[in-house]
Amino acid sequence: MADVLSPPRDISVLAPPREHDEALSSWLVRTADAHLLTVEELEREIGGSLSGLDRGDATLLPRLAAMTCTDMGDLAALAPADLAAHPMRAGPKPPHCWAVCPACLQEDQAQRRAPYVRRAWTHPLSAFCRAHNAPLVPHGNSRIKIASDLTLFGDGAEPVEPRDNLLDIVEFDDPGMIARVFRALDDSGRAEALEKRLRLRWAVRDVIDAMTTRMRDPAAGALVALLEHPIFQRRSFVGNNHMTEDCWTDIDAATRLLYVRLALLVLAEPGDPALNDRTSPLGPNWLLLRYRHTKIKGWQSLFAHAAPDPLFLLTMELPRNAILQLNDRSLAWPSDLRRRWTYAAAVGAIGGYVY
Ligand SMILES: [Zn+2]
Repeated sequence: MADVLSPPRDISVLAPPREHDEALSSWLVRTADAHLLTVEELEREIGGSLSGLDRGDATLLPRLAAMTCTDMGDLAALAPADLAAHPMRAGPKPPHCWAVCPACLQEDQAQRRAPYVRRAWTHPLSAFCRAHNAPLVPHGNSRIKIASDLTLFGDGAEPVEPRDNLLDIVEFDDPGMIARVFRALDDSGRAEALEKRLRLRWAVRDVIDAMTTRMRDPAAGALVALLEHPIFQRRSFVGNNHMTEDCWTDIDAATRLLYVRLALLVLAEPGDPALNDRTSPLGPNWLLLRYRHTKIKGWQSLFAHAAPDPLFLLTMELPRNAILQLNDRSLAWPSDLRRRWTYAAAVGAIGGYVY
């Protein structure tokens, strides 16, 4: 593609200094802003997608290094190790791809530096700010913007961005899983740390693919409705007819943040129901209420010791071909989550018969 482009234009003179741990897309959009260019115009100059750079696409780096008078190795080092090893499709362009922490952006302003998107927020698994332990929100939710409307949306275009006003209000997350993601995203550079992160990434990816698949009762919509309705009290995406692969690559930040948090809830260890009195975000006795029509003899005493694991929903509600795909895909998950999948598969095998 680069050979049909004009010679690289030098955009280093007006480029602002890159802030500490700033995402490449963020720095380039701020550079575009300094040149009064739009995101689209800068993407044409670079010859590809800005959001792809955050997701490990290295093909544009030689031209980008020439345009910004930066060392190519320095630019290549900005992509997280797992994305450099297994890049993801670019997905929506900035600002639609950006998740931000409003408290961090306020601190940027208070400390008189330009507000910017951190590298950690652009990772697909990232849904919380480590500094504030607070949910990230789409850039559209934030009153502090990374660049001008002209740069982000183009001249005369309506500055419309995806937003979700419930993401930072509704509490349903499992603290253990949020901490696990923080640990997995720590860049230790060790091969086993990379494998751990990739395995967790595959598990979240696969659960999101499962959640966006229509249930076997065709009128019931996508599986995500069984989580989103009780927690957020709203309707969900109607769903894909067949389970897709990697559907989180093409969705905007508002949708990704929602789905990643719900997937982490599905993957969270439910705990012993007899010893743990914490009510599930899906409501008290949700498992019993959902499957009471199965009329299992003696169910009340049985359920007092039955872990209400949301992973069961996947094996009970999805069509057979989706469950078969998940059986195979879950072999690549972290070993504890794969083990839980096998228990869920057993429940599905028995429950599907009773259903
Ligand atoms: Zn923060």
